[in-house]
Amino acid sequence: VIEAVSLRKSYGPLEVLKGLDLSLARGEVVALIGPSGSGKSTFIRCLNMMEIPSGGTILFRQKKVGDRFRDKDGDIGIGTLRRHVGMVFQHFNLFPHKTVLQNVTEGPIVVCKTPHREAEERAMDLLAKVGLAEKHAAYPSHLSGGQKQRVAIARALAMDPEVLLLDEVTSALDPELVGEVLTVIRQLADAGMTMAIVTHEMAFAAEVANRVLFLDQGVIAEAGSADEVILNPQNPRLQAFVSRFR
Ligand code: ATP
Ligand code: MG
Repeated sequence: VIEAVSLRKSYGPLEVLKGLDLSLARGEVVALIGPSGSGKSTFIRCLNMMEIPSGGTILFRQKKVGDRFRDKDGDIGIGTLRRHVGMVFQHFNLFPHKTVLQNVTEGPIVVCKTPHREAEERAMDLLAKVGLAEKHAAYPSHLSGGQKQRVAIARALAMDPEVLLLDEVTSALDPELVGEVLTVIRQLADAGMTMAIVTHEMAFAAEVANRVLFLDQGVIAEAGSADEVILNPQNPRLQAFVSRFR
């Protein structure tokens, strides 16, 4: 459903992504692991064009994503891509002055012009799914980190994305709050959501991912099943990396 071909990204003289290829099939879960600074965030931000790549191509539904906001001449527009590719960040990025419910309904109401009532009903269903229906009227500042992150996931799901990109969504959480967020992601994986997950939770990556990619110095240095990449790594840099998280 989404594909990166020879993807490159530089910041000035710094070449961060040096030609990456990834093809995510519908329902597939790919985990991206790798050292700090290897380009994981840059890579998934390029996948939904939050960062504009310096080279290479993104394909969505087998069509090239162009450089315009709108679809044109058979190309997918950046707006269309973002509309269908959801993203969840390490630091939640909730709207602080909106309630939990308003955070979840904002996208559908503003972007999709969904009627209020319908957006609220759907938001309540999603909040129930992430175990937060009773918090719908609370403000983000009154929630724990794990609760905020579950709201952020519900907000992304409210747009009914075809692909969900998750960037270290448990890294800012206290250890005792990590599990509740991983449970929600596990349920999404079981329900067939297509996801690319950047994570340092090796056990979790091994459990949910159909495929694991090891990014190192701007290239995909290793790719394979969790068994191959995380449990029995062959590449010495990967061995050293994985052993630090066990
Ligand atoms: P981490 O595990 O620490 O989150 P990462 O693998 O996600 O690391 P990136 O955030 O993708 O790494 O960063 C890759 C490289 O690109 C780093 O050297 C970083 O300093 C650089 N970089 C990222 N964003 C920018 C930017 N907006 N301007 C300049 N350099 C950037
Ligand atoms: Mg990062």
